[in-house]
Amino acid sequence: MIIQIYQAIILYRKFTADHIFTGYEILSSPTVLITDPLGVIIDIVDKKHAGDGVENLRGLLTPGFTNAHCHLELSHLKGMIPQKTGLVEFVQKVMSIRAASGELKLEAMVNAEAEMYKNGIVAVGDICNTTDSIPAKAESKLRWHNFIELSGFTDAVAQQRLDDMEKVYQQFMATNPRQRTSFSPHAPYSVSKKLFQLLNEATAGQIITIHNQESPAEDDLYRHKNGEFLALYKNFGIDFTAFEPTGKSSFQSWLPYFTNSQSIISVHNTFTGIADIAFSQSHLKENNSGLFYCICINANKYIEQKIPSIRLLMKSNFDIVIGTDSYASNLQLNILEEIKTIQRETNYEIPLQELLKWATINGARALQLHHTSGSFEKGKQPGVVLVEGLDNLQTTQHSFARRIL
Ligand SMILES: [Zn+2]
Repeated sequence: MIIQIYQAIILYRKFTADHIFTGYEILSSPTVLITDPLGVIIDIVDKKHAGDGVENLRGLLTPGFTNAHCHLELSHLKGMIPQKTGLVEFVQKVMSIRAASGELKLEAMVNAEAEMYKNGIVAVGDICNTTDSIPAKAESKLRWHNFIELSGFTDAVAQQRLDDMEKVYQQFMATNPRQRTSFSPHAPYSVSKKLFQLLNEATAGQIITIHNQESPAEDDLYRHKNGEFLALYKNFGIDFTAFEPTGKSSFQSWLPYFTNSQSIISVHNTFTGIADIAFSQSHLKENNSGLFYCICINANKYIEQKIPSIRLLMKSNFDIVIGTDSYASNLQLNILEEIKTIQRETNYEIPLQELLKWATINGARALQLHHTSGSFEKGKQPGVVLVEGLDNLQTTQHSFARRIL
């Protein structure tokens, strides 16, 4: 008898709540989520057929969140970068104060990882300029895609930059081969034509990410070779005489470099317009690549005080995902806080169900983790997260998320 009770406890966990979001929809009927003790999904069944031992929770159950854009290695900059300065000043500030002791950086990364786990994040698309984050990720329960980021605005340094970052890439691969790792360009204003071409060759068929149209200065640079970035290059002694403007927006200038079936996560898109969206649809059809628009709304408010046209992005053929960006430009690394801001800034017109989809199954698809994450489907281990403090299926300032399993 004792053995039977013991078996019942270790074989199943059963959860019910006011609402269950599956990764695709909020179920309307009373249901129970059944998992094994490690959180592998066994089934979702009608409450009537769930049997005993059901844990009753108040709130909404959702699969774990994907943070599609983060820089774990900048976690020690929490609270150190002034807000609302605009992107050019922000970039200069980060570059000038990012150095710190290894110990301090590691402690900040370990804390940030624990915070993300606790608030329901299960997978992260993480930008890496260095090998700093390797130890913090070694014992992590989160799933990581490491984007080894390249920059270099003159063609002369392109090959050298790729060679240098190849060493970083190899260290990530050697220390944790279970984590996925790929190269990515930093941003259109920091990557030369030759470096874009080298990256196109180096990332065939892989996932890449790029900071896109985060500032209006980026379009000024590509259209007319003027604007604020010229001052930034001067400050850092970068010779930009060889740069040729394309006469097009930044997005329409960099996207055609990628012709090798990359799946692209375009991050920020704060100044992406209707012509850019139309262009991406025709370009990507021809080149058979995927595209995801990643929104980091709290970072946009922190840096530029301007947010992307979310409704416009929703009208494109491509899916939206959500990122926190880093502690250099956010007060927390918390996907529910991003959802709360999106709802507030769009007058609660986007249903919670849609936003949860961006945060769960879309994010998992963007990082190609959808076979294990992103939805309550049999055999997946997506994490079980409870969202509390909702009002009539809308977030409120008191809403918060916590990991159950
Ligand atoms: Zn970023």
